[in-house]
Amino acid sequence: MRIFVPKEIHSTERRVPLLPSGAAKLVGLGIEIEVEQGLGVPLNCTDSLYEKAGAKISSDRAGSMATADLLLRVRKPSLDEVDLLNKGCIHASFLDPFNERELVLRLATAGVTAVSMEMIPRTAVAQKMDVLSSQANLSGYVSVIIAATDANRIFPMLITPAGTIKPVRVLVIGVGVAGLQAIATARRLGAAVEAFDTRPIVEEQVRSLGAKFVKADLGETGETVGGYAKPLTPEQLQKQRAIMTQHIAQADVVITAAQVFGKKAPIIVTTEMVRQMRPGSVIVDTAIETGGNVECSRYDEVAEVNGVRIISFANLPSRVAANASEMYSNNMSAFVEHFWDKSANAFLLDFTNDILKQCVITHAGKICNETIRAAYG
Ligand code: NAD
Repeated sequence: MRIFVPKEIHSTERRVPLLPSGAAKLVGLGIEIEVEQGLGVPLNCTDSLYEKAGAKISSDRAGSMATADLLLRVRKPSLDEVDLLNKGCIHASFLDPFNERELVLRLATAGVTAVSMEMIPRTAVAQKMDVLSSQANLSGYVSVIIAATDANRIFPMLITPAGTIKPVRVLVIGVGVAGLQAIATARRLGAAVEAFDTRPIVEEQVRSLGAKFVKADLGETGETVGGYAKPLTPEQLQKQRAIMTQHIAQADVVITAAQVFGKKAPIIVTTEMVRQMRPGSVIVDTAIETGGNVECSRYDEVAEVNGVRIISFANLPSRVAANASEMYSNNMSAFVEHFWDKSANAFLLDFTNDILKQCVITHAGKICNETIRAAYG
């Protein structure tokens, strides 16, 4: 069995799916690892470091893709790349299967076993391979650093002979993994932080980070069995906006990180609400990849409304690519190790396993994932 790790070719992608440490771990399991020449270039990680870890270097990307048994990547393949893949191979990457119907169908037709890393369940046993958590954690951190750099005021309180400076007021909307890290980062910088989430269970976590939880009675909200938020009804969302308006108007910085798994992100901050903020305030919309939480967000751009800057950069983890790659690489090597059958020298595709049941999308010519089949109707 041979694993191939191709270079990420998307122009803005600086993350590397497998670092030499990850390669060494897999080589230690007896797996043949091949990486594309220059794989680690974005992180100044040379081919010789991969060779020292026991990996082979390939200068034939297409040839190695066509013969690999398992491919590890950050980004989904292009349609053309799917045509190259070996029938029966396993392809593990982010896949965005809810929105990539054509790609998923192509993977099924090509007989590829496609693993969508974002579909790994959020359970204790799967935590080590949970790429959503590792990358969202960094998104939360980066969002606050971007806001702190862009804002025209400092985050902490300062008492000086030249006057007392009040701490910046940060509002975090959506307290999943990204939101929690945003709160923690803003607190470390000395900000006064408020936060809101539709899952009531989050209140205690917000408080434990020294932030204030915004109370809002939206009626029954709750969460799914998998721990994800349930979508709000239009009436609930309207009520949320009404409650949030005042908090948003008072904030110097708003970080939005509200998502509903498998669905477009809810629009929580309307342009009218942005107009009520003080000029000079900053919003960072971390939910932009799924449509954004702010009505006037522009994908990978900075919009400006009435002196308020709305920053919606895509792929925030790539801005801290060294750590993002370290965590992603650990997630990927843990994923392979978890299912590696040493005696058979093969990745064990056991479809009674709960993790694989949820993250394998296509297998043996079919879309085998129940959630995705239901989503496609
Ligand atoms: P996510 O990215 O899907 O959503 C981000 C947050 O947005 C969630 O907290 C959600 O409740 C919130 N949200 C949705 N609609 C909202 C709205 N209208 N207003 C405000 N907030 C809104 O979440 P995530 O970070 O991927 O985490 C999903 C779940 O997985 C959480 O329950 C988390 O605790 C859990 N989790 C478990 C583990 C584990 O046990 N191994 C690891 C990581 C995450």
